[in-house]
This record gives sequence, C-alpha cells and structure tokens, in this order.
Amino acid sequence: MKSRWRDAEAKSLTSRYAQQGIAADLALRVYTSRLLGQDPKLVLHGGGNTSVKMRMPDLLGEETEVLCVKGSGWDMAEIEPAGLPAVRLKPLLQMKTRTHLSDEDIVRLQRANLLDPSAPNPSVETLLHAFLPGKFIDHTHATAVLSLTDQPEGEKLCREVYGGRLGLVPYIMPGFDLAKKAARVFESDPAVEGLVLLKHGIFTFGDSAQQAYERMIAAVTAAEERLARGRRTFSAAILPKRLAPAAEIAPILRGACGLKDDKVEGAWRRLICEFRSGPEVLHYVNGKELSRYSQLGVVTPDHTIRTKNLPMLLPAPDAANMAQFRKDVHEAAKTFIDRYKAYFTSHNARIEPKKRPLDPLPRVALVPGVGLFGLGRSKKDARIAADIAENAIAVITDAESIGRFESLPEKDLFAMEYWSLEQAKLGKETEKPLQGQVALITGAAGAIGAAVARAFKAAGAELSLLDKDTAAVEKLAQSLGGLAVTCDVTDGESVSTAFARTAEIFGGVDIAVSNAGAAWQGDIAELEDDVLRQSFELNFFAHQRVAQAAVRMMRAQGMGGCLLFNVSKQAVNPGPEFGPYGMPKAATLLLMRQYALECGKDGIRANGVNADRVRGGLLTKEMIAARAKARGLNEADYMRGNLLGREVTAEDVAAAFLYHATALKTTGDITTVDGGNVAAALR
Ligand SMILES: [Zn+2]
Repeated sequence: MKSRWRDAEAKSLTSRYAQQGIAADLALRVYTSRLLGQDPKLVLHGGGNTSVKMRMPDLLGEETEVLCVKGSGWDMAEIEPAGLPAVRLKPLLQMKTRTHLSDEDIVRLQRANLLDPSAPNPSVETLLHAFLPGKFIDHTHATAVLSLTDQPEGEKLCREVYGGRLGLVPYIMPGFDLAKKAARVFESDPAVEGLVLLKHGIFTFGDSAQQAYERMIAAVTAAEERLARGRRTFSAAILPKRLAPAAEIAPILRGACGLKDDKVEGAWRRLICEFRSGPEVLHYVNGKELSRYSQLGVVTPDHTIRTKNLPMLLPAPDAANMAQFRKDVHEAAKTFIDRYKAYFTSHNARIEPKKRPLDPLPRVALVPGVGLFGLGRSKKDARIAADIAENAIAVITDAESIGRFESLPEKDLFAMEYWSLEQAKLGKETEKPLQGQVALITGAAGAIGAAVARAFKAAGAELSLLDKDTAAVEKLAQSLGGLAVTCDVTDGESVSTAFARTAEIFGGVDIAVSNAGAAWQGDIAELEDDVLRQSFELNFFAHQRVAQAAVRMMRAQGMGGCLLFNVSKQAVNPGPEFGPYGMPKAATLLLMRQYALECGKDGIRANGVNADRVRGGLLTKEMIAARAKARGLNEADYMRGNLLGREVTAEDVAAAFLYHATALKTTGDITTVDGGNVAAALR
C-alpha cells in the first residue's frame, strides 16, 4: 500500500482552513482522515476513526485541552472539521480511574464535555483515543491486517510481521474495558507505534498527522507483504454447465427474502438487491469449501450491523432446472430465518436488559457460479452490504491463502449486533410507505411520468425509469436517483431487456406504471388503418406487453404487486376526431380489468387513472392554443374547463397513482382526475 500523503495538498488544505480560523493540527487531521477514508482497503462505510489532541478555546474563549475525535455519522472519506467534535480531555482521562463505566454513561459523559453542545456524538471508540497518549491517532479495519489476525494463529502471525513495533490487544468489545486494556498494553511498552486489536483492526499513533498516517500505511504494507507469500487458492466446485443469469436469479431471491407483514394483510417487508461479480468474487463463491469458510462469521465485528454474522448460501442456479433452484432458494431462506431467530432467542436469554429482535432476513447471498447479492431495505443499504461482503471475501481469501480464517465466538458478535451504540449508527428514521419497493415507470421522461417518479421517490420507492428519449430519462435519473433505461415499449425485446436490467439492478419489480402513450387524431370515417394500428400498438399493445413482463416477474417473486395504467377519459367519454386515441385506451381499460380478474389470486392488483387535459402530457402548447381557440376560450379558461373550474396538473395524476400503489385492498378500479366531467364519469 502506497502513502498518498502529498505535502502540497496538505499545505493547501491547511491554508484554506486557516482562513476559516481552523488550526493547522485540525486541518491536517481532516486531511489524513480523508486519505484513510478514501481507501476501501482501510475503511468502509463509517468504520474506523481518528483523533487529535490539541488546545482550542471553549465557548467562553478559554484555552482548553481537547480531544477532537471522529463524530458518529460522519464518513471519513469526506470528513470536515465539524465531523471531529472537540471533547474536553481532562474529564475523559479522569474516567480511567473507574473500574466500571456503562456504555450509556460513557455517551452521557462525552456529550456533557463537548465544547459545542450541538456537535455530533463522539465516536464509540473515543475513550480508547483519550487513554492513549499519541497526539494523532488513526484507527482502521484494514483488510490486510484482518487477514493476519482473523486466524487461530493470528497473534503469532502479528508478532512475526510486526515484532515489537505494534502492541497486541486481545479481542474485547469496544467500550470502557477495551479502552483500559489498550492503554495497559501500550503502557507495558510505550515504544510501540501502534496497536493491533486482534480480530478487530489496527491503531497507529504519531506526533504529527503524517507520522500516524505513514505508520498505518507501513503496518498495512507489512501485512500485505506477508500475505503475498501465501499461495493457497480455493479449489473449485463442479458447477452446472449452463447457469442462470443474475436477472433471473434476483426475483427468486428477493421473493424468498420477503416477509409477509403480520399486521397489514397484503403488505410485505421487501428487500432491494445489489449484485456483484468479478474474478475475486467468483473464485470465492465457486470454491469447493465455500460452505465452510463462508459460514464462520464476520471479519470485524462492526460489520454485523450491515451484513449480519453470516451470508446466506445458495446452490448454483442450473439454467436447465430453475424450478428446483427456486425451491432450494426458498428452503435456504427459511433455514436462514429460523436459525437467526434461534440465535437471537438463545443469546437474548442470557443478557439483561432484553433486546428487541431485528428482522431475521439475510443481508448477503452467495451464489456459486454467479456472484453475490447484497440485500437491504434500500438500494443504498444493499450497496453497503455488498461492499462489506466483497471486503469480507478479500479478507477471508487472503487469510485462507496463508492459514485458516477464524472469526469471533457467536456471543461476541451478538453483543456487537445488539449493542445499543452500534444500533444507533443505523438511524431511527420511520420508514416510508413504498420503502423496499421497486417501481418501473414507462414514459418516465414525460410530464406525468416524471411527476409519478418524483411522487414515488418521495414515498421511498426505488425507480426504474424507462423512456424512448435517452438523454431526457438519464437526466431525470440523475436528478432523482434511479436507473435510466432507454426503452421503446412498442418493441417486445426492448421491454424484456428493460425488465431484465431492472431485475439485475434492484432485484425485481413491485409496481409497474404503464404510462407511455401518445395521441393520434383523425376522422374515424376517413381514417387510414395504419394510423389506428400505430395507436393501438402504443396505446394498447405496449400496455399489454409491459403488464405481461411485470406479472411474470411479480409471479417469480411471489410477493404480489401492482399494475398501474395511464388510461384516459377518452376511454369512456370519446371526443370528436380522438377515435384513434380513445379506442385503444378503451381496450386498455378492459385490459386493466382482465389483469385484476386473473391476477388477484397472486396478490397482484391492477388499477388505472383517467386523467384529462394535463399540460405537458398529451397536450402540447400548440394543441392547447388550437383547442382553446376552437372553443373561443383563452388558454387558462380552456385548461379549467371542468366542474370544479380547476386546472389538473401532472402532480394531481401522480397523487392518484401513488394512492393506488398503496391501496392494498383495491383492484380493478379507475380513478378519474379531470376536475369533474359528468360525461366522463364511470358508470
Ligand atoms: Zn474499530
């Protein structure tokens, strides 16, 4: 591992912060914290922390000895001075004389001694930083160091690699006891440059930010060099000749890992997937002994809150026998869930106070021949789980190349998973109504499509945005977050590719909003067949094609689902010369009912929205001007030509779709959003 310290960068950051009145020590603390945080081989997703001991004025202007230590919730990769709250050092050091201090008391004492009362909570490892005398202290969960220590021979290997340069601290859960033990190990040999916390990570200290950082890089490099001498690779298992692709596996996996809601009939707790593959992942998941080395536990304890202790192991998906694979996946998920519940019950029985169980669903699934899936309640959480799983693969592969991977006893991992301070890292936001659901929207770049996308995003859904207009849909995906897919809904292959891509990225589809459409006009008595056929292609057959692809995926998942159709008031209240548009829309209304009729048994609902006169929808500026003129009205009056005298917006239409996406007891229904028009009312 190479040092990324650059004098010029350090200097320019220091002078930039100096203008904001930030001391050089703190600026350099920010600089090397970022260097550490930006390397996934050192620090992943909130793991690791850093500190500096310095003097700064308190709120009354009095110079005070403080520890600036990483605050909870800050990511080291992009930390700012505000992410290193200052805690008075003296009271922290006074705690060293205590024999016992609870986690809650530590948090309280730390908060009480913050210079700025509005600062974030200091890291859960603050006392450890305080009790060690180094001015700058860096702590990471470096991959290479974990590969060395996560072994039955870990201690011996560390001695061999580090000699007396680093002190060795046996595994103790973070908190008061670990801080005291680490201080004792240091005091027994104050010449050490750092400490290895066995099966946890590494600390280095220095008089300067650069020294602590360079010592970290040197220690990790030494571990890497030792690992490079390892030769052993995993011998490969025999796999089926033809393997199913991730897009076909994901909906099955997602369905098996969905939990029926006990309280709300028809509701599910769904997870989102993140697929990963590549040579390292495949070497690992294809190994003959995968069921041994993958089932030993996490590589460093704070990973448990993201991935649970163990990944779920699936069989290789034989493309020739997917029915069997499906059965096996459901079996594996059931076993995983049962085991997790048993694990919780047995460990919870022996501790006080009692904990509340987390959901028992897996967060990582390993698929021989294919790769791995991270699972989470959002795409972001799924990505974090997948990152950590890939990191674990690197640690375990290297550990096994020179010895045997070993994790911690289950009771230590339970203590970490259910540690109140770790749980706090996950946040306590209440979940949104469409959390965990994937919504696919056709014609997403249009006015109504984009409004639906915004409404569904705000409700917590993950978005797969389909549109013919590549640039427009990419722009929308960029602004909202989500997948942009160029798709022509009149082309069967284009539609199936879009669904496969959605499954590959999110794991499946729960809500399909079949929205794409366009208006054709013409005197019905004089109309060319071609015009009518074209309109039927987009305004009827495309809806059928999208609904069919959606239902296939929803059935593969087995968690119900929701089909939504953008119909039109034309379906029930034809307008003159709008025949080519209204007729296929009338057929689409019946299509919706047919799906409601035939898919109710699968828990799949089908509903539609009849909207009228929406700006930017089918109505272009020119059309509005022409129609208003034809009726002798100004544009505003034309747009408000309904019973309520109110203009209908794309957001009003989106609100109706959102209602249907959450109305678990409604199917076969049309909601009219037209400001009131008795002639268009459904009878
Ligand atoms: Zn740590």
